[in-house]
Amino acid sequence: MNKIRRNKVIKPDCLERNAEAWTNHYIKQRKSNNNYWNWHTDNYERVERILTPILSNISNFHCSYCGIYPLKQNVGGRSIDHFKPKSEFPELAFEWTNLFIACPDCQNIKGNNYPLEIEPLKPDSCHYHFDYWFEIDWTINKNYIIPNKDRNDTEKKIAQETINWLGLNKGDRPDVRYDELEKYKDSSVTDIWRWSYPYFLERG
Ligand SMILES: [Zn+2]
Repeated sequence: MNKIRRNKVIKPDCLERNAEAWTNHYIKQRKSNNNYWNWHTDNYERVERILTPILSNISNFHCSYCGIYPLKQNVGGRSIDHFKPKSEFPELAFEWTNLFIACPDCQNIKGNNYPLEIEPLKPDSCHYHFDYWFEIDWTINKNYIIPNKDRNDTEKKIAQETINWLGLNKGDRPDVRYDELEKYKDSSVTDIWRWSYPYFLERG
């Protein structure tokens, strides 16, 4: 998970003006239809179309969770994720700091889940630094992201639950990250932000 600097941009004006009304509307509509959702329009433009490029900018066009790059610009290649799911936290449905750009894979893994016992690590939090919370297990054929062994038990639990929640070691993800690292090492393209998983490549 890369660090995201949300303060690169100011809060979008459409949310500044409308978030409260849209949130109240959403909470009201959900009472009769649990699946109700609408991004609304602002000045004749769909709000998700306004927010997507801004959220992509603050994540440097990487998935905010797994770090895959580049997020495809077409429909289905990237979408806005509610860090705290709107089904469980409807009051945060239009909260600027709850919105992140994410790849379809991460959206599927997250779904409407949210850890019950801990507050997971948030990539735009001022307390979030990869090296503080995580390390990489370079054991052959592993390359898993694991909690930093120097942290206390509570912090290790937060790190591990975040890894589980976002599926950061799920399926072939560790292998895919390692393949990217090998390609990066052989390439003349040294700008780490032109690659997937910068947080992983930087430490490889
Ligand atoms: Zn992702």
